[in-house]
Amino acid sequence: MKVLVVGAGLAGLTAATDLAARGVDVQVLEARDRVGGRMHGIEVAQDDWADAGAAYLGERHTELLALMAETDLKAVPTAMEGASRFALTAPDATASDATASDARSVPGRFPPLSGVALGELFDLLDEVTRTVRVDAPWLTPDAERLDSTTAAEWAEENLRHPDARLFFPLFLGEMMAAAPADVSVLHMAFYLRSGGGLRYLNAFAGGAQESRIDGGAHRLCEVLAARLGDRVRLGEPVLAVEQDGDGVTVRTAGGAHRGDAVIIAVPPVLADRIGFRPALPEPRSSDRTAPGCAVKVHLIHPSPLWREMGLSGWSVSSDGPLLSTVDDSPPGGVGVLTGFVTGEEAKRYATLPLAEQRAAAVAQAALLFPGLPEPIGFHVTNWLDEPYSRGCYAALFGPGDWIAQGPGLTRPHGRVHWAGTETSTEFFGLMEGAIRSGRRAAAEAAHDHPTSGSAL
Ligand SMILES: Cc1cc2nc3c(=O)[nH]c(=O)nc-3n(C[C@H](O)[C@H](O)[C@H](O)COP(=O)(O)OP(=O)(O)OC[C@H]3O[C@@H](n4cnc5c(N)ncnc54)[C@H](O)[C@@H]3O)c2cc1C
Repeated sequence: MKVLVVGAGLAGLTAATDLAARGVDVQVLEARDRVGGRMHGIEVAQDDWADAGAAYLGERHTELLALMAETDLKAVPTAMEGASRFALTAPDATASDATASDARSVPGRFPPLSGVALGELFDLLDEVTRTVRVDAPWLTPDAERLDSTTAAEWAEENLRHPDARLFFPLFLGEMMAAAPADVSVLHMAFYLRSGGGLRYLNAFAGGAQESRIDGGAHRLCEVLAARLGDRVRLGEPVLAVEQDGDGVTVRTAGGAHRGDAVIIAVPPVLADRIGFRPALPEPRSSDRTAPGCAVKVHLIHPSPLWREMGLSGWSVSSDGPLLSTVDDSPPGGVGVLTGFVTGEEAKRYATLPLAEQRAAAVAQAALLFPGLPEPIGFHVTNWLDEPYSRGCYAALFGPGDWIAQGPGLTRPHGRVHWAGTETSTEFFGLMEGAIRSGRRAAAEAAHDHPTSGSAL
């Protein structure tokens, strides 16, 4: 039996690893000239790596932790000691009312906004999140209504206090890299529940941001790929998948590959760009499926200088570009301040020339952390323009998407099986979801096609 795997992200590599362990002949076809997909490292100083893509994990990410243990990769705790900085300006304030120079230091991570208003916001989010059928969101009671309303409309209707209205888009940007107008309420609620609930997702200590992978998350994919050896082929963008009675032919720019089954481990919008014969019964995305909007910025300093100021490096700002920052410094290495530009702000920032992106980010960091000198290094990773990712952290399902596409996301199409974090109802959008999807797809393919024969 031979299985072809499209995409050498964490989902595809996990699926291929599982199949190889079962003795299945496997071939991974990857469009880029590197493995890892949305897990990507940049070397910011000699042997010091920063995560341009996925970074954080928590103790509930059990499959990821198991895979790390098995590949000898360690978790390092995310540094979060010292005061936080907040520069939060109410949307109705005039430009002269406040700027980032009004940033305030606050002990802990709770923003200096009305505790009652934020408590009510979280209660409202809990209420809508609690009702979601996480295993099958389209079967949620009231799914039609929740799937036809955007999170922006929900906020307009439900959030009265200006502090809640200010904080909600920042929260959604940080959690999902989403602008509220881009996601349905059903998707927002599903995403929060799938990831362990909004408190778990939002937390560093004890939550989903508790630690990072030492040396960079991309290393996990590199280790898996190294073990698979020449079973992984780079620079092979898959253009077409054709099935017949005996097997499947996968066509890339470089040639054709034959197998008994194929696992497609790419985001839904990219799967829809592949030509399938016979055609898929329904598309995997729609014109309302939006790319996750995140640009990651890294400011490199000789050491984590903010720590000397008694600051954790964590900040939240209502004005961009850096809507939040976090200390991602490697232990004992250079200082890495990561800036997250998300939602609508990411769409704007992504279009700026690099010099303007740098100037805006450096100026804001200096206002947030007074006395912080010019960085010695600066990196921008714009995921919106990555042709083989089309946004991140994950696809954003807009109105109608869950009801139309949801039931078919994991349903095999003859010899075609589906993986990728967007096909996992557990930890959707996260590395953990990618691994779980790869495991499921590998088991399915091995079960459904033990030998060659007609599957259509
Ligand atoms: C900035 C950012 C921050 C994130 N933060 C976190 C975090 O802190 N924690 C967390 O758990 N997750 C985070 N994520 C999400 C995480 O990276 C993803 O959930 C996970 O990596 C998805 O893996 P995947 O294999 O499903 O998809 P991908 O990584 O997208 O892999 C798909 C692969 O398919 C390839 N491909 C696409 N089209 C084709 C084609 N036609 N032919 C061949 N190959 C193709 C792509 O090049 C890619 O390598 C973040 C992502 C980003 C970008």
